[in-house]
Amino acid sequence: MVYDYIIVGSGLYGSIFAYELNKISKKVLVLEKRSHIGGNVFTENVEGINVHKYGAHIFHTNDKEVWDYINQFADFNNYIHNVIAIYKSELYNLPFNMNTFHEMWGIKTPLDAKKIIKSQKSDFKLINKNPSNLEEQAISLVGKDIYEKLIKGYTEKQWGKKCNELPAFIIKRLPVRFTYNNNYFNDSYQGIPVGGYTQIIEKMLNGIDVKLNTDFFQKREKWKNVADKCVFTGMIDQYFSYCYGELEYRSLKFEEEIKNIKNYQGNSVVNYTDFNPSYTRIIEHKHFENLENNDSLAKTVITKEYPQKWKNGMDAYYPINDEKNSKLFDKYKKLANKEENVIFGGRLADYKYYDMWEVIKKAVSNVKEEINNLVP
Ligand code: FAD
Ligand code: UDP
Repeated sequence: MVYDYIIVGSGLYGSIFAYELNKISKKVLVLEKRSHIGGNVFTENVEGINVHKYGAHIFHTNDKEVWDYINQFADFNNYIHNVIAIYKSELYNLPFNMNTFHEMWGIKTPLDAKKIIKSQKSDFKLINKNPSNLEEQAISLVGKDIYEKLIKGYTEKQWGKKCNELPAFIIKRLPVRFTYNNNYFNDSYQGIPVGGYTQIIEKMLNGIDVKLNTDFFQKREKWKNVADKCVFTGMIDQYFSYCYGELEYRSLKFEEEIKNIKNYQGNSVVNYTDFNPSYTRIIEHKHFENLENNDSLAKTVITKEYPQKWKNGMDAYYPINDEKNSKLFDKYKKLANKEENVIFGGRLADYKYYDMWEVIKKAVSNVKEEINNLVP
């Protein structure tokens, strides 16, 4: 065999595996079907601005080991994410906090906000009930008004399903706070890598053979035969030739524009929470690096994000972790457990709505386990 490991996918999971194996002198080949490395964290410099080509990526974690690990590869700035939501002509702060409650109801104290939420929750008979779907969870957390103006339209555009058909956990990603604090995350560590994310992956893959524009499935027998072991970070159902049927994913279309203005929307992310327009959010990339006051940058770059139904051949961005798909995934997982010399991992092979820190945590732990099990 020419290589010890072939790694399918150059996202965070594949690149961490490649980096750690290369460090112990294993011979590694990385295959990437896109024309660049990095998977969804890929950033590219456009007009002097690091553009997040696959949607806004804000690094956040509570895990000190993960934070220390990623800081080996980049310095992070002190960016704290906050989001503006636009519903028709109204504007709100996200995540749900005293600013949002004041903007929605004119109230000023946590007690008054809690009273309104409790009364709206009770109208839906949700007191003392375990929410069984996203709609019930949302009304239980923030009441009917916020659900109808800030959640329903955005969520149904994003997932292409009714809120009462979606799992409750999705809305629990967002903090609900009874303080005037617009931080989108509760984690202790947060920031954007200075110089973008691509340099992190470049450092991880430094000195390692990488083949771009190469889809593993086009010559899978050939690729399986060039290495003793395979690390697979693509879609798990595709790996098993959809033998139990297709898992559902959500795809996205990104529409990027260069605007001849220094500051277009005043914030990195503005969400559009009504059913119209059909995009969910507009990103203005320069705000991730506080470049709005940089006089040498006369232009700005924005990206509109349109959710799409995933069809075979499209990029899969989000697994849909509802009951039906979770059951189907469990069947594929059983096959994966029996597959010899293949390690499955990352957002697509684990079919989990992972954030970056979770992918890093899994990759570091799985590669350590792999290295520990190697025969000396
Ligand atoms: P990926 O990045 O998907 O990498 C998999 C790679 O494998 C891809 O490059 C793909 O092209 C390649 N591949 C797949 N199949 C094949 C094949 N057959 N042959 C060759 N190559 C193949 N996380 C956060 O922490 N904060 C955020 O703010 C955040 N925002 C996000 C916004 C969006 C729109 C999306 C979609 C995700 C966001 N995430 C965020 C999640 C984050 O992108 C992921 O957790 C992480 O990038 C997943 O890394 P991965 O290596 O598992 O997968
Ligand atoms: N969400 C919403 N309104 C918003 C923002 C988010 O209803 O303005 C819901 C929506 O269901 C979304 C989920 O919260 O899918 C998680 O939001 P997050 O910002 O974490 O989504 P991601 O960045 O992962 O796409």
